[in-house]
Amino acid sequence: MKISFVSFEVSPFVKVGGLADVAGALPKYLKKLGEECYVIMPFHKNIEDNFDTSKFEIVKKDLVPDSHKYKAPFSIYKSFLPDSDVKIYFLKTEGLFDSENVYEEENIFLKTSYFSDIALKTIKEIEPDTNIVHINDWHTSLIPVYLKTNYFEDKALGKLSTLLTIHNIGYQGVFAPEFIFQAGLPGYLFNIDALEFYGKINVLKGGLMFSDIINTVSPTYAKEIQTSEYGYGLEGILKIRSEDLYGVINGIDYNIYNPETDPHIFYPIRTYEDKLNNKIKLQEYLELPIKKYSTLISFIGRLFDQKGLDLISNVINYFLLADVQFVMLGTGDKKYERFLISLEDSFPEKVSINIKFDADLAQKIYAGSDIFLMPSRYEPCGLGQMYAMRYGTIPVVRYTGGLVDTVQEYDSETKKGTGFGFYDYSETDLLYTILKATYYNQKKEEEWKIIFKNCMQADFSYEKTAKSYVELYKKAIAKKFN
Ligand code: ADP
Repeated sequence: MKISFVSFEVSPFVKVGGLADVAGALPKYLKKLGEECYVIMPFHKNIEDNFDTSKFEIVKKDLVPDSHKYKAPFSIYKSFLPDSDVKIYFLKTEGLFDSENVYEEENIFLKTSYFSDIALKTIKEIEPDTNIVHINDWHTSLIPVYLKTNYFEDKALGKLSTLLTIHNIGYQGVFAPEFIFQAGLPGYLFNIDALEFYGKINVLKGGLMFSDIINTVSPTYAKEIQTSEYGYGLEGILKIRSEDLYGVINGIDYNIYNPETDPHIFYPIRTYEDKLNNKIKLQEYLELPIKKYSTLISFIGRLFDQKGLDLISNVINYFLLADVQFVMLGTGDKKYERFLISLEDSFPEKVSINIKFDADLAQKIYAGSDIFLMPSRYEPCGLGQMYAMRYGTIPVVRYTGGLVDTVQEYDSETKKGTGFGFYDYSETDLLYTILKATYYNQKKEEEWKIIFKNCMQADFSYEKTAKSYVELYKKAIAKKFN
């Protein structure tokens, strides 16, 4: 089976969120299972700024899209995912993929629809024997729409099956109807059974209607998005397509995120003592007072309501009264950035606020903290909690989406479990759970060490994830030729 994995972000070249991690890892594991797989992404300007691209091979130059009305030429560059023989094609066109933030709103429809069309042209020109296109989120959701309309009778493209993975249904790509014409798609798609959505067009809806198979990144989120609380208006369509809707939990790349070999962390982690040594070094690094037995609580992620920032902001003044320290790494909503920075003045000895994207510091925090906070309002899968557990940091989560599927509540009687959580999106429940975890950390060290061990032994490797995707590809192919 030959799989084309198409994504707007791919780690390590461009990473905004969890999608990049999946795009950078899953293809490698598919290859290990014996499948052929390659990746396609835009040649964002960031990549030229941050990587040595002189070794990228130019495969084709001056191609033009077949459908899209924006006829600027593009070129295909080839390289490989690091430490692998998985090909990655970077599609380059002058001036379009230039913004620092790859999801910058200006021209975002043009960028994503043009990319979707030229990704198909790339398949046709270079990899015409591809069987399945694996698309991700709304940015690539016009691909199945093109395939089932403009390219329905195309020799190479007409036989492609599609799998759409929803990494986050909160982002859908909603635009004025006339954009359909910019994409070079037929006007009849402005129809309730296609792209139309409350008088506009919704690109993700197009993906949901036209893909052969759909999945999200955890079984619980697959159920949740069929309800009005989590479906963001697309729950009705997801219900209609529920027979083709699956949940596959993401893995994490054990070769990169390995506490015994990770070059970013202070000491390899094998024992609980190693963990405490990392904590002391982290405190030193962040210029916090060195306190081996004070509980170090961390948060890494985008600073938005989705991640529970409203809850954290409302309880932080209370939990900081306990013998704890708090380290935060992230960027996002300015109101949260300002609020968090102001905490450094009120609690200089207790908080370290780092408003930036810093993959190196992220690893040091995963390795050096005791508790990792993830009180998300919704969480399709979540990677942070898995990285945390891999490095022996105990997650405190709100049980929603992938957090339900990856964190197991600690049970004092059976000594099983990997973390602590709560269900209602409530400040008191969050505060109670943080204090409970802190209590275990400080007063029940023997049990804490058991939880630490349980976390480090939990299996989040990619092999299982990759196997589940192979099953979905088979389903998509069977469905198409049914
Ligand atoms: P989402 O995809 O919703 O942003 P995930 O938990 O699935 O959330 O993935 C977020 C990923 O991005 C994790 O690997 C996390 O460590 C990383 N990350 C988020 N913010 C930062 C940051 N400021 N610096 C470094 N890594 C970050």
